[in-house]
Amino acid sequence: MNFNQICVWAPIYLVIFMIAYMEIMMIYIFINPEEIEIVLLILHHLLLLVVIYLFYKTITTQPGTPTYQYTEDDPLVEWRKICKHCQIKKPLRCHHCAVCNKCILRMNDHSFWFNNCIGQNNYKYYFCLLFYLTLTLIFYFFIFLTKVIKVPPTGQIDTFFIIFTVLSSFALMIGVFCCLGFHSKLIINNQTNVEYFEKQQEHYDKGFISNCNELLGPGCWINPI
Ligand SMILES: [Zn+2]
Ligand SMILES: [Zn+2]
Repeated sequence: MNFNQICVWAPIYLVIFMIAYMEIMMIYIFINPEEIEIVLLILHHLLLLVVIYLFYKTITTQPGTPTYQYTEDDPLVEWRKICKHCQIKKPLRCHHCAVCNKCILRMNDHSFWFNNCIGQNNYKYYFCLLFYLTLTLIFYFFIFLTKVIKVPPTGQIDTFFIIFTVLSSFALMIGVFCCLGFHSKLIINNQTNVEYFEKQQEHYDKGFISNCNELLGPGCWINPI
């Protein structure tokens, strides 16, 4: 593995490290859990399993690229321009990613947290990840804080790590919640990141229900599978 590959995968290793660190702190503080705490811990870990699954799916699912199957007389496709890098015609909402070096269907952005583009095929996983991660962090923050208030740490090192964990889980909770709010707004307006920041004039808004069905799939919008 060369230096470039290490840099590209570094944010993902950081996420794995953060999950491991928070888990160790959780085990440390709940070393002798009461009955109700066991139930809370099981719920927390079920949520965490869903988050890990969605993180994996967002990384490994190809966001979608246009294929040569499209033809100019296809009534379902509106042609706009040819990508000068890929030399293929791009459907509307498709953009070329300089990092992946390919065109991405309904591209949101290239996310370094996943070493992948967020596009047509993995947007649902990404949005569900934000949703379940927010829930997990809220859950984590409150059960951790409640336990610390009930049984305050005594040693200096314990106190440092526990305060650090409370503050960092709070900061993460707020950050992920803001991201979830932003993407909820994009879904309600049927916009991508690119369209939002470039203030593009095209409007794809078909109404709340249709937008959610289109971007998150019909049925249960927060179904992680
Ligand atoms: Zn391209
Ligand atoms: Zn990309």
